[in-house]
Amino acid sequence: MPHPNQTFTELESRWHTERWPHLAKRQLTYNDIEPALDALAANEQLAHTVIGSSYLGTPIRRLSLGQGPMVVLAWTQMHGNESTATAAVLDWLQLLLNEQPTDLPADWQELVTLHVIPMLNPDGAAAGTRETAQGIDMNRDALAQQTPEGRLLWQQVQTLKPSVAFNLHDQNPYYAAGEGGDPATIAFLAPAYHPDKHVDGARLRAKQLIAHMRQVLSHWLPNGIGRYDDTYSQRSFGDAIAGTGASTILIESGEHRDDPSRQVARRLNVMALQAGLAALLSGVYQDYSLADYYAIPDNVSDGFVDIRIRNLTIDDGEHPPYQVDVCLNRDPDHQQSYLLEFVGDSTGQQGLEEVSGTGLKWQQLPQLGAVANSLLAHVREQLSQR
Ligand SMILES: [Zn+2]
Repeated sequence: MPHPNQTFTELESRWHTERWPHLAKRQLTYNDIEPALDALAANEQLAHTVIGSSYLGTPIRRLSLGQGPMVVLAWTQMHGNESTATAAVLDWLQLLLNEQPTDLPADWQELVTLHVIPMLNPDGAAAGTRETAQGIDMNRDALAQQTPEGRLLWQQVQTLKPSVAFNLHDQNPYYAAGEGGDPATIAFLAPAYHPDKHVDGARLRAKQLIAHMRQVLSHWLPNGIGRYDDTYSQRSFGDAIAGTGASTILIESGEHRDDPSRQVARRLNVMALQAGLAALLSGVYQDYSLADYYAIPDNVSDGFVDIRIRNLTIDDGEHPPYQVDVCLNRDPDHQQSYLLEFVGDSTGQQGLEEVSGTGLKWQQLPQLGAVANSLLAHVREQLSQR
């Protein structure tokens, strides 16, 4: 019997040679993906539909594969600055078209219809913002529906009536897979459809599919998978779509060490999506329990900071000296600049870069939010002289 991961290691090596090479960037715009969309749309196996356009008039396109009764819908980049999964879904379609996947039945396209909407928010993508051109966080617009992009997504859900929905995002680099765990390169959630977080059949299936996807991904990422908080949010699309009875699965792409363009998360998204589709068709997800889902460690926000300086002595010359950990994050608006994020006992947090401040002094009182470039330069300077 082949090792359960054998088909996925095959898929992984195919990804390395068949992925879209021009999409290896942290931030993708519509112009970046248009050639891949056009090339895929030209394939006669795929149905291509322009489902509408963004507020500023960029087309929003849907690619569909298969004619089966089980409807799967995946969308990406409703937040404009979260493009990792956009590359992944385009890779996934390419892999599905190039070769009959060994883990799917030969007639899989008679069993499933797979719809993919890459880049729901092309205006935000062009501007590099989370929000749409209207300044609206589209993922808080499921009820109010003031954005054309949000109305389109809702209309697609109402028309296609997916059984399984994949809601694909990026998360900030500071999430840890459990306290003390690695950066959460992938996080999963089966969103609640009610404040009481009931688990009905559809949500159970989503959790079982996630448990299976996690099992497959843990081959590459044993300590870097988190389980996202399931607090109900009625204005968010994932929760609203879970409320339609679709088994809804959120996948967040996150940080991986030394991988600023998130190509690890991109690759693992492809593996996760394929594992989910294969498990749906084989029924293997039914081997998993709710306990397997809850065994995934929490996706801990602020588990990481960009730089943590341990045990720095603060000595202003007037008061007795004291020791603190100093946590710094990059200023989102000025990437070369660092801001003080936390001062004190940082137990439970980790630095993506860890610096020992033992024996080093800083002579000013640190204030949260202050630009900390001079402190960091001072520490690095002293360390270099050791
Ligand atoms: Zn997002």
